Amino acid sequence: MTSPLILIAFPQSSERVIFERALRSAGYQVALAETGSEAEKIFQESIPSLVLLHASFEKNGLDFVAALLERFPTMPVVLYEEAEKLASYRRALQTGISGYLFPPLRIEDLQQTIERSLQRARRLGDWLRHEVKRTTASLEKRIELSEAERRRYEIVFASIKDGVILIDTSGKILMINPAAQRIFGITQAQAEGKLLLEVIQHPDLRDLMVRSGEKHLSYHEINFADGRVYHAQITPLPNIGQAITLQDITYLKEIDRMKNDFVNTISHDLRSPLTAVLGYTELIERVGPLNDQQRIFLGRIRTSVENITALVNDLLDLNRLEAGFDTRRERVHLDVLLSYSLDLLRPLIDQKGLQLEVKIASPLPALRGNPLRLRQMLENLIGNAIKYTPSGGRIEISLYPQDSQIVFKISDTGPGIPPEEQSRIFEKFYRASNVTAESSGFGLGLAIVKSIVENHQGRVWVESALGKGTTFYVVLPAERQP
Ligand code: ADP
Repeated sequence: MTSPLILIAFPQSSERVIFERALRSAGYQVALAETGSEAEKIFQESIPSLVLLHASFEKNGLDFVAALLERFPTMPVVLYEEAEKLASYRRALQTGISGYLFPPLRIEDLQQTIERSLQRARRLGDWLRHEVKRTTASLEKRIELSEAERRRYEIVFASIKDGVILIDTSGKILMINPAAQRIFGITQAQAEGKLLLEVIQHPDLRDLMVRSGEKHLSYHEINFADGRVYHAQITPLPNIGQAITLQDITYLKEIDRMKNDFVNTISHDLRSPLTAVLGYTELIERVGPLNDQQRIFLGRIRTSVENITALVNDLLDLNRLEAGFDTRRERVHLDVLLSYSLDLLRPLIDQKGLQLEVKIASPLPALRGNPLRLRQMLENLIGNAIKYTPSGGRIEISLYPQDSQIVFKISDTGPGIPPEEQSRIFEKFYRASNVTAESSGFGLGLAIVKSIVENHQGRVWVESALGKGTTFYVVLPAERQP
């Protein structure tokens, strides 16, 4: 072990010679500095174990000590002053020196002070090393723990049965779990770090990404040619990007298809007997006189049969729409269709004493569509507004272009739809709890509206507040300018 190096920062003086000798003879290495820059040079070569400093070194020795301790907080510094001064001793203590010497001074006193200071510094050094080791060990343990945690998350991520893809804010794939790799038939190596839409060129996925910012996108399907269907959801991850989850709903779609087939068959089979019943209710009066009671009963039979026939027709209609039979496309002016629909429904509006306001922006672009279906869509929505708005209420309809789309908006001052039911009203047969017993309907109108709108590559959604009213929005793509 090399002996400790002691820097004597003293102006030239007889004491310096004595101190140097005494320290060397006690076995220390000694370096001498007369000025601050000389001391700095020594520090650059090797850091001394202790500094013995004259109180007037560099004019004010304590300033030098303060700067030194700022850089080397554990450095032991012994201050020598030519006469004992209480004030400077006090300041020296506050600065953080470890020894204070003044004449008359015996060589042993000097050596003892130096040795004691060195010992204290050694103990401090040992303690520091020990603490650093302890902290490092606990840090290593923590890193080990978080490594185990990371592995645990990886296992969870890999074993989720649903497909999960994490992408960063620029659309690059951060992680893709095995389920998602299987869904799209790609490998991790093909995917990670690449742009999602370049690696997976699926039109439904592209559509999902394009529409991910939309407030009303709560449900999106990804369809494959082999019949698989996935429910896709996109969730923003703050500071990371987005997570896409894909849930296999092929079996639900199959059940839905079977249910539709069943309903379709029944509806078909019901049509002929219903027509017969209706026909006979008309004939019955012709073959002989009826009394009043019989006539009332017959009227009730007729109304009921007409209701069931309407239901059956709606069901068959919906089935045709869902099967994609709505392929007729021609140039359509929605404002013209709207005026026909209003002509048809105005008597009902007047009968109920409702106020109607219609705002149509002009010019309004045309669109490509099936005029009969689009009228059916308008009439279902206007019909609902009339049906659910109490007498004296108000209906506002507007039609305006927005970007390359046409917006149809209809607001009423009816009862509103409970928020928790708003996402369900477009389902078949769903009637919300706001309907009263006397309001007729089977809960098919909005399902038909949705099918028609989607067949026209449009969107429909509702905004409603209980007790205030309801607004339906339909957005349809305008005809492309040649
Ligand atoms: P329905 O034959 O019951 O009118 P729809 O499919 O047209 O069937 O509508 C589904 C449900 O949505 C209705 O039963 C009703 O609860 C609610 N609804 C639709 N339109 C309105 C509206 N304008 N105001 C309040 N509720 C409405």
